[in-house]
Amino acid sequence: MEGIQKNVEHQIRWMCIGFAVASGVNLIISYILRLSYLPVFYIVSALIYLVCTWITKLRRFVPIYLLCWLLVATQSCLTVYVLGDDCGIQMYLLVLIIPSSYIRFADVSFGIQRFFQIAACFLCIAGYLISDELVDYLLTPMTEIDNRAEFFFTLLNVTGSLTLLSMTSNIFVRNYQNIFLKLLHQSDQMATEAERDTLTGLKNRRGLEHLLVKEGPVWEQEKYPITVALGDVDFFKSFNDTYGHDAGDAVLRHLGTLISGLFPPEAAAFRWGGEEFLFLFPMPPEKSVVYLEQLRVTVEESMVSWGNRELRFSITIGVSRQGTVDNLTQLIQEADQALYRGKEMGRNRVVSK
Ligand code: GH3
Ligand code: MG
Ligand code: MG
Repeated sequence: MEGIQKNVEHQIRWMCIGFAVASGVNLIISYILRLSYLPVFYIVSALIYLVCTWITKLRRFVPIYLLCWLLVATQSCLTVYVLGDDCGIQMYLLVLIIPSSYIRFADVSFGIQRFFQIAACFLCIAGYLISDELVDYLLTPMTEIDNRAEFFFTLLNVTGSLTLLSMTSNIFVRNYQNIFLKLLHQSDQMATEAERDTLTGLKNRRGLEHLLVKEGPVWEQEKYPITVALGDVDFFKSFNDTYGHDAGDAVLRHLGTLISGLFPPEAAAFRWGGEEFLFLFPMPPEKSVVYLEQLRVTVEESMVSWGNRELRFSITIGVSRQGTVDNLTQLIQEADQALYRGKEMGRNRVVSK
């Protein structure tokens, strides 16, 4: 919401600056052409637009917008009355349509919001038609100016108003694009965070599901050799009981760091449950076991500083046979059976099915 408010501020300010510049240019032209009333009116409106530019800082957008509307409409009718409808000044009313759909009221319903936008569009078009057709139809223009001056005056107003219109619509589109990209980025970030285990920094089960959706079809098609391994911290319950749950968490965090640093980039590691980890290697078991054995030894040799203690721990790893991604469930079961055997054999070892 803050982003939208800032963008509205930006856009309304640019619109007011644009109107102030247009009024300044018209002031000069109407003065040179010695047109009645208009120079004075343009001085006043240029000043009011400049004040509005400053007021945008206060974020009172609706009154500024309505004031701009009133000024442009009065200016259109007055100028058409003096010069006729060829002066092109009425086109500035069209510029006001785009910012109207940008203004957000706080605490009003969607219906009222829409009503404001439709009413603003209707007013702009009605103002355009009144100054373009009705004023010209009802009143005879009071000034006869020479063709060259009229052409110049018209050209300037038409190009000026169209430039202002394209500028405001450009800001409008760019700002919405920015908001859209920011939301996309945020949702990407949230998806990544949802797949990550906050304690170990490794991916969680959802991360595996995502990986399988992303890479699975390619692995399946290419019949990639897959090895699955399950690692489990030894005697973790009594570790927690002896040193406390926080010390246990520190061990898991440390293990996450070791795993991330040791495995090759093509392998994937997941926190599978409490102190259980699943490893996925897109390579045969003989190659995978080399990395797993390296992990086991590193864990055995490493320690975690906890207060004035140095805590040591070990892991047991069960490794599946070679398979493909379409029999992943069976590979996980095989790894689990191998892990169970490893625990029975005395722990702190890598056991293959
Ligand atoms: P084994 O060698 O047979 O694996 O024995 P174990 O004590 O590690 O096995 P068990 O599965 O009985 O115990 C797992 C323990 O892991 C139980 C639970 O308190 C602990 N645990 C699970 N998740 C966490 C966690 O996030 N933090 C901590 N500190 N402990 C956890
Ligand atoms: Mg366990
Ligand atoms: Mg355990």
